[in-house]
Amino acid sequence: MLNQETLVKIDVGRYWMGFDTTSTKTLKLDSSYRPLEIVDSIEALVLCLIGKAYAIENYKEEIRSVSESFKLPAVIVLTRYVKFHFHTMTANRANVIWRDQNTCQYCSKEEESRVLTIDHVIPRSKGGKNTWKNLVTACKKCNQKKGNKTPKEANMKLLREPKRPKSNILRAISNKQISDLWKNYLWEYNEN
Ligand SMILES: [Zn+2]
Repeated sequence: MLNQETLVKIDVGRYWMGFDTTSTKTLKLDSSYRPLEIVDSIEALVLCLIGKAYAIENYKEEIRSVSESFKLPAVIVLTRYVKFHFHTMTANRANVIWRDQNTCQYCSKEEESRVLTIDHVIPRSKGGKNTWKNLVTACKKCNQKKGNKTPKEANMKLLREPKRPKSNILRAISNKQISDLWKNYLWEYNEN
């Protein structure tokens, strides 16, 4: 059983690591499996070793010393409940485009943020609000075509139902750092 004292002795420099430790990241969940943040895998391993978290997914990579080896955690769950002020993400232009991955939600065309527009699914004139469920990314052409109509009236179909994203924590890291092992904990969208 490792405790804090043992940990002090774990000097990462003495371990052999066949990979870049700074680019290996771990998804940190709270005790109810809500994504909290992305941390360095070494930091995540330390949290596991001192008993503050446990790993639910591991990478194949290990750090090794002569006598010990540890698998690097890919997803960890904090053992204690953390009163976490869940950062609410507002449904503004930049965030809606991010959620929709720069893709027009009517014709699937992918474009740069600056040329994309935000469409109110139910037009403002018909009582449509500025919410995650009512805002989608649209290319200029589709936005013009849809005009002041509902999708049904305009005979246009949405690629998917717009929802509030579960988390915005991935915005801080690059796509290549996102592990497949995270997808079960991250890629769903919550109703809201
Ligand atoms: Zn379009």
